Amino acid sequence: MRRRRRTPTDASAPDGLPEPPVIEFRGAGLTYPGPPAVAAFKPADLALRRGEFVTVVGPSGSGKSTFLNIVGLLDRPTEGTYLLDGIDTGRLSDNGRTALRGRRIGFVFQSFHLLPHRSSVENVALAMLYSAVPARERRARAREALDRVGLAHRAQALPSRLSGGERQRVAVARALVGRPSLLLCDEPTGNLDTANSEVVMELLAELHLAGLTILVITHDPAIAERGSRTLTIRDGVLSDRSPAAAATGQAIR
Ligand code: ADP
Repeated sequence: MRRRRRTPTDASAPDGLPEPPVIEFRGAGLTYPGPPAVAAFKPADLALRRGEFVTVVGPSGSGKSTFLNIVGLLDRPTEGTYLLDGIDTGRLSDNGRTALRGRRIGFVFQSFHLLPHRSSVENVALAMLYSAVPARERRARAREALDRVGLAHRAQALPSRLSGGERQRVAVARALVGRPSLLLCDEPTGNLDTANSEVVMELLAELHLAGLTILVITHDPAIAERGSRTLTIRDGVLSDRSPAAAATGQAIR
């Protein structure tokens, strides 16, 4: 079922209360202690609203992975605050962060990380192994997710029988099966040729239209342009070159 698209200005929850940003940084930054200490991601303010399709671009070594690790709750910021869906993640225990990550975030990586001897539907269903979803429901949910990425007809295929683009679509289905509020993609087209990259970016655009919040890290300016908003990271400094940010003078320090 297609959900109604929610735009950044459509920022109220069904109960009429203002909806918190999906991602909010308040002076959040990360310095690796070293020695020597490396200020890999300098303190930044940022608010990404539900339904945004954000691309993050920057050269190698600029801090993109560090940013992704903070957003994905894989690393804690060493300064400032990071709120995910309004939840102050700094107050959570490691177990609390893991649980929140499992419920709210779907990951897609450059390498597809599919188990070679498992079919598409099994690969997707395995993502729910440690979830509360009852075993009998997992396969149905996996089929639903494959249908959402246009691969219902390839449910029984092994990864070796799929094209690169199809493998990445299975990986997207696996990321979606937990019904996350945020899809985090790290160089999702990095291993794909132009035609397969296009298929994957089209899929992300469709998911965005259906209301999903998507963040794509890339070093490819052509991929970066596909976002409705593009952030740049250079030498650990985050900047927002989207027209909306320029108009409102949105702060990124
Ligand atoms: P990108 O993803 O844009 O290539 P990274 O976020 O991986 O950049 O790295 C940003 C900077 O932080 C680089 O200078 C890198 O060498 C450094 N860095 C990354 N991880 C660590 C770490 N665990 N300890 C120390 N420095 C690190």
